[in-house]
Amino acid sequence: MNYEYDAEVLVVGGGPVGLLAAMTLESHGATAIVLEQDPFLQPPNVKCNHVSSRTMEVFRRHGIADDVRSAGLPAEHPQDVAFRTSFVGQEFGRIRIPSAEERRNGGGSGPDVSWATPEHPHRVNQTYLEPILERHVASRAGIDLRNGVRVDAVSQDDSGVTAAVTDVVTGAQSTVRAKYLIGADGGRSLVRKAIGAKFSGDPVLQHVQSTWIRSTALAAAREAIPSWGTYVYNTRRNGHIYAINGVDEFLVHTYLTAEEAELGSVDRHQALRDILGVDVLFPYAVLSEEDWVARRLVADKFRDRRFFIAGDAAHLWVPMGGYGMNAGIADGVNLAWTIAAVLDGWAGEHMLDAYAAERQPITEQVSRFAMGHLQKLDAADMPANIELPGEEADLARARFGALAEQLNTQQFAAAGLNYGYSYHGSPIIVADGAAPEYTMGTYTPSTVPGCRMPHVWLRDGSSAYDGLGKWYTLVNAAGDADAGAAWAAAATAAGLPTAFLDLAELELPAAFSTEYLIVREDQHVAWRGDELPANITAFVQRLGARPDATQIARGAAPTAAQPRLAA
Ligand SMILES: Cc1cc2nc3c(=O)[nH]c(=O)nc-3n(C[C@H](O)[C@H](O)[C@H](O)COP(=O)(O)OP(=O)(O)OC[C@H]3O[C@@H](n4cnc5c(N)ncnc54)[C@H](O)[C@@H]3O)c2cc1C
Repeated sequence: MNYEYDAEVLVVGGGPVGLLAAMTLESHGATAIVLEQDPFLQPPNVKCNHVSSRTMEVFRRHGIADDVRSAGLPAEHPQDVAFRTSFVGQEFGRIRIPSAEERRNGGGSGPDVSWATPEHPHRVNQTYLEPILERHVASRAGIDLRNGVRVDAVSQDDSGVTAAVTDVVTGAQSTVRAKYLIGADGGRSLVRKAIGAKFSGDPVLQHVQSTWIRSTALAAAREAIPSWGTYVYNTRRNGHIYAINGVDEFLVHTYLTAEEAELGSVDRHQALRDILGVDVLFPYAVLSEEDWVARRLVADKFRDRRFFIAGDAAHLWVPMGGYGMNAGIADGVNLAWTIAAVLDGWAGEHMLDAYAAERQPITEQVSRFAMGHLQKLDAADMPANIELPGEEADLARARFGALAEQLNTQQFAAAGLNYGYSYHGSPIIVADGAAPEYTMGTYTPSTVPGCRMPHVWLRDGSSAYDGLGKWYTLVNAAGDADAGAAWAAAATAAGLPTAFLDLAELELPAAFSTEYLIVREDQHVAWRGDELPANITAFVQRLGARPDATQIARGAAPTAAQPRLAA
């Protein structure tokens, strides 16, 4: 370690994005300091409830997917979304989502069970998720997690970055120095301001009152199979309710009209009772209240030299599709992978240009999907007789229930958000055509460079993703295994750490249309073709290797995973 630096990377903010960025740096040999103002293991407020399949795939790489899947709702609690006239009222629609136990046993039914992935989505509130991530980060030798410290200012020069830090308990001041800085410091990001980035988009889409309550009487009052989410429609107040612990804690989102928000005219507890379907004497305790504004904002730049921003620091949008944290984690791991590659010595500084080129367009796309979905829901016409008895009302409820299911399946089983995006415009992707279009709920599996390599199971029951190396992997889909392995070794010797994975004996999906692919650790295809690239020196530089990187700087051996063959 050069004594000018306290660590190689300074991560401002120990929320989910900063923690995953730190884990990714550490797992690639880089050292990181995470500076977080809140105390260790202090849970955040109840916000995110959905961990996407793509994020679970990241957790699998870090060996924490099982811990996360075991947290939150009891294992057997359904993760369904029900459509009802109030929490205790009539149910008129339901989207099935398997429980954690059903997922583990490979069972259950619902629109996402057929997804090609080793890790299906999981519903768990951020209050449970973050302490799991914090414990893992705290246990890793290469990460110095410092809680209870606030970053007051950040600066950079030709050789590094400096943060001015205050201990929030003692008031003691100090500085921390590193080579690069990741601002994962949330929506009010100090780092975003320091790089002069501006948010642009739609600053106000909706005003929401969120109330976290505890009520043992509430679960008992509902005569139905429990659900994770409940969408309530009635003529008094629409809202959404999420089961937090699967027993007696619920998060209730109350949606306000623009006029109500402006006039401050909503009786919070009457609105809550209208959504729950209970009277004024019904017992519940308020655990927290938060009023927030749904927005669609993306920063106009994600980087200034040694400073980068990720997660809510770089983008904010309405949580339709449940993709704020999930997109942020994708930013964090993408960025950390490129920084770690440069720090490892084999990648050139130009590798750092990939982060904004890859993530900024995707976050813009996701923000528009989320806003578009909110607008579609707003436009859905709820029948005025939704709560009335009688055949006519039954029919209206059934019709509206079918519409609600059809409209919302795309956000609760958002295959497109998970697997549809592509990095084909990146400087370290060798594009050979346009990636297929995707929507929130749909995508076309593809190996067009930039896309996520479609998932396949190996014969030993593990995932092909488990066999990918830490940096790049030459995947033999239908070519010559010996030639592929030799090419991977030659690429490694030329400076691009490349593992080898042989899938040729498997029956691969049609999307594997070439003999070979080069796939990154994050499962995105970097190149594909039937002929292995002949000019290895030029090719490895195209994927990020330094011109002089004829050996791996940190160690004699390639840092890619052990080459493995499909059993
Ligand atoms: C109601 C609601 C529901 C949501 N549901 C979902 C969902 O289902 N799925 C989903 O993916 N997303 C969801 N989100 C969004 C999700 O909560 C955020 O996108 C996510 O928390 C962002 O993570 P982050 O690490 O970027 O920022 P944050 O979680 O805000 O973490 C930033 C951290 O930085 C720390 N920090 C800030 N400034 C400083 C400083 N100067 N010094 C030291 N520390 C600092 C903060 O204390 C904080 O811990 C939801 C959001 C809301 C409001």
